[in-house]
Amino acid sequence: MTRVLDALRTLGLEGVISTDRHWFRCCCPLHDDRSPSFSVNLDSGHYYCYAGCGNGKLHELVLELMRRGQLDFDPNLSTRIELQEREIRVDFKMPKLNYSMMLGSFLHRGFTFDMMRAFEIGYDIELKSMFIPVHTIDGRLVGGIWRQRDYELPKYLNTQGLPRQELLFNAHRVMAAQGKRDILCLEGPLDCVWASAAGYMAVAFLGSKFNEHQVRLLEVLKPDSVILGGDNDAAGATFNHKLGQQTLAFAPTYVLNVPTSAKDVQDVPLSTLLGLERIPYLLYALQVTRGVKVGEHGAPSDTK
Ligand SMILES: [Zn+2]
Repeated sequence: MTRVLDALRTLGLEGVISTDRHWFRCCCPLHDDRSPSFSVNLDSGHYYCYAGCGNGKLHELVLELMRRGQLDFDPNLSTRIELQEREIRVDFKMPKLNYSMMLGSFLHRGFTFDMMRAFEIGYDIELKSMFIPVHTIDGRLVGGIWRQRDYELPKYLNTQGLPRQELLFNAHRVMAAQGKRDILCLEGPLDCVWASAAGYMAVAFLGSKFNEHQVRLLEVLKPDSVILGGDNDAAGATFNHKLGQQTLAFAPTYVLNVPTSAKDVQDVPLSTLLGLERIPYLLYALQVTRGVKVGEHGAPSDTK
């Protein structure tokens, strides 16, 4: 409850707390409200406007207020509010890493120590795996992912309690980056490392499934355009298709035409990756609805 109250204070909302101390009531910041019709549940941080503005979490309210220009654009604010709403675990222990060792399979695929260093990825001597640190959008280290040796299953292990679906890998670096914001959206963190080395501004959704909050984090990065780079399989095609439906609302959206011979962006040589064709999402979607099988090809316009 205190956390939610802190968040409300940060937002500058003034109101009254109900006698049972579970609710906060104030005028709605989303419409011209004269009689308080806005309630916030102090246990969950969920808000409701009874006059029709809808409901959501406080950090979503922050993003909405920024979108409308009612709050100064400050991407860190939404994260701060979110952390106040409910704690993201940060009490994991960073494994001991060796930065001058790498799995042979990584070297074989063309990864370099410079590429690893740019993402603070190191070799975990104890687990004999590569450890990929994961941060929130405001740069707080909240855990990480181990990529195990090729013959080990599962391929990836997460630190305990890693809120995978609430994080956008590499968002904090993209946030700080200068230049045109054509943001490539990928599934895996290593795709992101590879694409960044090729010259992309890239983020990863930590899997082919994503949620609304991750899409909002992407929106907060203010992309000039969004490029969808899901894997060349059924899950990747669904990733592109579903994500594009949402990103179209805030940025011109394209689908990266990954050659059908490649399984994902990591299969595309660094020298040609940046030059790959970007198909306008609407064209891509049209081809999908016309019945081109996307289950087998992430990019249905590729007729090779
Ligand atoms: Zn309202």
